[in-house]
Amino acid sequence: MAKIRLATVWLDGCSGCHMSFLDMDERLIEIASKVEVVCSPYVDAKEFPANVDLAIVEGAVSSEEDLEKLLKIRKNSKIVLALGDCGVTGNVSAMRNLVGLEASFKHAYDDLSDANKGVRPSREVPKQLERVSAQHERVFIDRFLPGCPPPADAIYHILLSLIEGKEYDIFNHTRFGK
Ligand code: SF4
Repeated sequence: MAKIRLATVWLDGCSGCHMSFLDMDERLIEIASKVEVVCSPYVDAKEFPANVDLAIVEGAVSSEEDLEKLLKIRKNSKIVLALGDCGVTGNVSAMRNLVGLEASFKHAYDDLSDANKGVRPSREVPKQLERVSAQHERVFIDRFLPGCPPPADAIYHILLSLIEGKEYDIFNHTRFGK
């Protein structure tokens, strides 16, 4: 059987969901025997590739860069799994929506800053969107795994069921409930 082309990506998240992925420990060896990891912070791919079977995405959509990445992921992936509360609901990343972008920048760069008070970064910080979104507000998401972070056991079971085609036929792109 051909291996599943698997990608893992993070948008605006703390990387805790990816750390939980690693907490699968020795079960990673079993997963690794069934997948080809084509893009991930673990393999340091620079560009999101084409023809991905399963993309696991951590984090909310906070910047123009996040949105661009998510659109590219959706276009090039058969199944997209939102991993963790930030991706599923916005969670911690979306807390700035309560006060708005300008007020959170003011607090971070003006009120709390010891040095360079009032100076806003103009380079190397992606342009922030006015409002942080959960992933499903921007693209169709096939499967959600909530948790902050989701436990390693849950990640293992959902991955195995997706990889073994128990819930989805990845190669025929049959979406849950469709
Ligand atoms: S859901 Fe929790 S662990 Fe995952 S990226 Fe968000 S804050 Fe971090």
